Amino acid sequence: MKIISNEIDLKTSKRLEIIDISSKVGEIVKFTGIKNGMINIFTRHSTSAIVINENETGLVKDFENLLKKIVPENSDYAHNVIDNNADSHLRSFLLGGSQSIPVIGGQMDLGTWQSIFFVELDGPRSRKVKITVIGQYLRY
Ligand code: ZN
Repeated sequence: MKIISNEIDLKTSKRLEIIDISSKVGEIVKFTGIKNGMINIFTRHSTSAIVINENETGLVKDFENLLKKIVPENSDYAHNVIDNNADSHLRSFLLGGSQSIPVIGGQMDLGTWQSIFFVELDGPRSRKVKITVIGQYLRY
């Protein structure tokens, strides 16, 4: 069994931004040569998230609006006395910082309508997404 780590560097441009990283992650899986196993996509930042869903423009806009509705930008947050970004952390708490996907036949076994998104919740910033591929080279 092999374990290969890699990293994706992102430069985000908005405070709240939903970025499809599926093709970048797919390239890494291909590059590792691992045929069967598992991939983990992990954000190293507590004001961002990794989610899987459909990349449809209207739906992505709906998701942004939902985040703004359930965690408003300005409220009486205790954390705001530290660095004024409690809403970013709270949105991250709700969404989670990593996702794992099976790798089968050298490819991520995503559903037809599934994409992997990096969710920027306190941009614009430089971000690092950690990719770990665990598996074996041969099919079984
Ligand atoms: Zn903070």
